[in-house]
Amino acid sequence: MSSAAVSSTNVLKRNAPRFAAALLATLASFVTGPHAALPAEPQHHGQAPGFYRLKVGDLEVTALFDGTGVFDPQWLNGTKASMDGVLEAVHEDPHLLDVADTSFVVNTGKQLILVDVGAGTWWGGGAFGRMAGSLRSAGYTPEEVDIVLVTHLHSDHVGGLTTQDGKRVFPNADVYVAKAESEFWLSPDIAAKAPEDAQPFFQSARAIAAPYIKAGKWHTFSGSEPIVECMQLVALPGHTPGHTGYKFSSKGQEILFWGDIVHALRVQLQHPEVTAVFDIDQPAAAATRHQLLAELARENVLIAGPHMNFPALGRVRREGRGYSWAPVVFTDQWAKR
Ligand SMILES: [Zn+2]
Repeated sequence: MSSAAVSSTNVLKRNAPRFAAALLATLASFVTGPHAALPAEPQHHGQAPGFYRLKVGDLEVTALFDGTGVFDPQWLNGTKASMDGVLEAVHEDPHLLDVADTSFVVNTGKQLILVDVGAGTWWGGGAFGRMAGSLRSAGYTPEEVDIVLVTHLHSDHVGGLTTQDGKRVFPNADVYVAKAESEFWLSPDIAAKAPEDAQPFFQSARAIAAPYIKAGKWHTFSGSEPIVECMQLVALPGHTPGHTGYKFSSKGQEILFWGDIVHALRVQLQHPEVTAVFDIDQPAAAATRHQLLAELARENVLIAGPHMNFPALGRVRREGRGYSWAPVVFTDQWAKR
């Protein structure tokens, strides 16, 4: 230790009682003095804007937050053993069945493409429907959207297309949906034969599609015809008749927008055989999920899953007899993820 350091240590030692007294006086003034009357800092309830971007090759992909909710355990179907386990686990962990609703925008450099559009005002009690605000926060306007690709016609995925008074939210966009999907949900004959509790799905699909059909902006596809450069259609039937994934590729990187392959992330990855009551063809939904999860885990494909935790991007890994979710997590570094 240098002599200067020794002498300053001695000064501190000599003055220690005085420092202690001054410190106590200062602390006392915080407790009893004028500062005690200062109002508490108000709490701020707003969150960061609901978008998250990453790059896939040359594509810019932005997840757009639409809202959060909780999946009712009664909406899941599985074996007695797996469902008993789920009910017990929900009892201990009320967040087990938390879900998000998310849509995605892909900027190819030539076109602005939405994949699903959230619920708008067409689903439940207002927990969803933030997508248009998230799109603006991300720097885009609804008028700039060229194309909307729809995974299926449930209102939590297409409600954001249309206002309750029948106006198109994306006035310049062409909407694409599988022919089988469009024909199923827009058919008055099929709706007439469907059970009572399925009627709202048919009614909302018809109302949401109507202004785009009228404007000549509603397009259906039935095979593998190219709609967008660098995008492949992936038929994923079961959840609904024309349920479709969209796989984009750029510079050797890929991302699959998988629609409703998984609703309850913490149940259906471990138990891919567990289906949802909203699956029109339950065995087909389970078979599609089994096959797709194995392929995605093997190929380490980046997934955009609307109901996964925001930003609803990640990969699946094999874990035990099922799979686990490896999420993309927030970073402000603009880098390959
Ligand atoms: Zn859904």
